[in-house]
Amino acid sequence: MDEDEPKAVEPELDEEDEWQLYASAGYASTGFILDETEEIEDKQPDDVWFDGDDSDFEGNTVNWDAPPCPAPLGIAHLIKIGVCDFCLHRIGGRRSDERGAEAGAVLRGEAYVRDKELPSKVTQDFCPLCENLFEDIGNIVERVSESLSGTDYSTIQFGIHLPKDLIQEEDRIRSKYGAPGSYPLKSALVEAIHHRIRSVNNRVDFVKEKPDIMVLVDGLTLRIDVDVRPLFLYGRYRKLVRDLPQTRWPCRACRGRAEGCESCGGTGLQYPDSVQDLIGEPIKEALDADDTSFHGMGREDIDVRCLGSGRPFVLEVKRPSKRDHSLDDLVARVNENSSGKVEVDGLSWCDRSKVRKVKESRSEKTYTIRFRADDLADEETVTSAISSLSGVVIDQETPKRVSHRRAAKTRRRKVISVGSILVEGDEVQFSARCEAGTYVKELVHSDEGRTVPSVQSAIDRECEVLWLDVEEIHADD
Ligand SMILES: [Zn+2]
Ligand SMILES: [Zn+2]
Repeated sequence: MDEDEPKAVEPELDEEDEWQLYASAGYASTGFILDETEEIEDKQPDDVWFDGDDSDFEGNTVNWDAPPCPAPLGIAHLIKIGVCDFCLHRIGGRRSDERGAEAGAVLRGEAYVRDKELPSKVTQDFCPLCENLFEDIGNIVERVSESLSGTDYSTIQFGIHLPKDLIQEEDRIRSKYGAPGSYPLKSALVEAIHHRIRSVNNRVDFVKEKPDIMVLVDGLTLRIDVDVRPLFLYGRYRKLVRDLPQTRWPCRACRGRAEGCESCGGTGLQYPDSVQDLIGEPIKEALDADDTSFHGMGREDIDVRCLGSGRPFVLEVKRPSKRDHSLDDLVARVNENSSGKVEVDGLSWCDRSKVRKVKESRSEKTYTIRFRADDLADEETVTSAISSLSGVVIDQETPKRVSHRRAAKTRRRKVISVGSILVEGDEVQFSARCEAGTYVKELVHSDEGRTVPSVQSAIDRECEVLWLDVEEIHADD
């Protein structure tokens, strides 16, 4: 791994995409709350309706010619075929002060007054429009609340999946008998769920994107998936010590299995600490989260420090129970926990899009490099030879040390400037500002002539890199 090597941006889906994919795959094409495309697509010509499985409605009680609501005959017809009070309200076309079932009950009461025989003509007690799903709303909300107990949130997004045949049936009946402006089943269900939740928690907002909590309800099985969405924190870290990997490094002997092994002392880790965990663990604890992921702007070798204003990163906090926490306190916890190995100046909340920005960013970097070489010429000659690399474009073949995981190719990179050259005995220290993606160690030792030109070729001596620091990452926030 090279400190300055741009981290490959994998073509993997990020979780947001995965979630959307899951939502639309697992839930067929019914999509989310207000996505009525399926209902439109599946709308069939009216004549198909009569060839369908409509035997329930056959017989003397069904009036195929009933007018649509709000005509009294339309309402009477819906009551006959067993429509529930919730559905009667949403497609009956009469608005009243009541809501939901209560409003439907008013319509039903009026219809019964008009036609005393009507109650005896009801053909089924199972609502053909919703299969009595509205009766399950209390149960659904109860289970959602239960799974969220102890979790902070202020916004929820609901998705509901309904069986295709129910949607088709509902659409046929509603488009034939429903009043103009009838409310489709899916949005009516979601709204009823919202209303029920509001009655117990009036601080929650229902949103259509970027919720704290995403809930998917399966109308067929009543299965509920409650997803606590991750939080994202942006910051910059300074890595003040060497021998500290940026990310968790699983034990080579046991490959990081949970119980670990003898060689890793049961930790499963090759190195006990990492930048990821020194920053992530105290935050995970403070927000009572399940886990964290670390997204850094590029990586650094384990033996490279990162100084200056630090390396930008985004910490993803998974399934946090707390969402509202003082950022200053989080910063203090990180700095305390890392006992001088890592420092963070500030943190800010951000969203997932920042992960991609940070990963894809290609910033110039300034390094301090110290190397050793035998038989150095005098200081002036060495200084002028190294200075000659300032502003030079170099060709770098893929270094041997990374060739097992990178395609062989030649990169052209610019060494923007070179300075602060210090010759001390057989050691030389200098700073270099380089274009993003420069292999800096190779710039010094040439990787057996695979980087041209190099410090080694400029001073005509074999160079051994002693250490390297990232002095500054020239990134905009
Ligand atoms: Zn119904
Ligand atoms: Zn191990």
